[in-house]
Amino acid sequence: MHTAATVAECLRQAQSRALARMDAQILLLHSLQRPLHDRAWLLAHDHEALTPAQEAAWQAALQRRVQGEPVAYITGRKDFFGLTLAVDARVLDPRPDTETLVDWALECLPECMTERGPQRILDLGTGSGAVALALQHARPQAQVWAVDASEDALTVARANAVHLNLAVQFIASNWLSAVDVQRTGRFDLIVSNPPYVAEGDPHLAALTHEPRQALTSGADGLEDIRQIIAQAPKHLTPGGWLLLEHGWDQAAPVQTLLRQAGFVQVQSRRDLGGIERCTGAVMPE
Ligand code: GLN
Repeated sequence: MHTAATVAECLRQAQSRALARMDAQILLLHSLQRPLHDRAWLLAHDHEALTPAQEAAWQAALQRRVQGEPVAYITGRKDFFGLTLAVDARVLDPRPDTETLVDWALECLPECMTERGPQRILDLGTGSGAVALALQHARPQAQVWAVDASEDALTVARANAVHLNLAVQFIASNWLSAVDVQRTGRFDLIVSNPPYVAEGDPHLAALTHEPRQALTSGADGLEDIRQIIAQAPKHLTPGGWLLLEHGWDQAAPVQTLLRQAGFVQVQSRRDLGGIERCTGAVMPE
């Protein structure tokens, strides 16, 4: 007779298949239909036996993770900046690194209104909506717009906005091409976590489950950033900020692109791993 697997046995099985401990814990909680933050529960329930349905769910989740699928796609959700987002293979899995971009954006946005009224913010390439929703949540008075070229991504982002009850306005657009300045006005802040991995980058081998168009950007990974920097000035208010996330070795070229486009106060910020991950600048008055 098959004896039911216990919590401790499942975690050992995951370890033997080289899963990170945190990934294994989250996937096991998911399989047990428990809250994903409740890792303390696992520690206290080493000997708890799984039901056959829970064990089947666990084996399926383990298999998917072993094949490289992000944990967030398996559980269908990801915590980002204190919000729980629904995510799946239609959108990039939001990274903790991107919280650096949100932190910086909030520094650029005082909690009060501008003399012209509520602050106007635009997130380019919103994916799951992570950045736009985090900003709208932190600055409820602000008017936040978010664009994506992918209708699939917009479907995911809109559902997250509805679920979180956040009033972000979505536009289908390839960067700023379909953003009508007459309708939205100029923005106090434009933020983006665009695709920035170079085609042919060996890291892509580990990222096969995420949408390619959310990851790669031409031979040097800067193609989309060049387009955004070229298009942004027409949509920024004087004194407005443009903040861009980019790859570990792209701070210097992105700074150069911003200076060449006439931006001032060009600067970069480090992520939690100490890597210069975001570069931004101000539209001159
Ligand atoms: N930071 C991601 C990675 O290299 C890429 C995300 C992006 O291109 N915006 O894994």
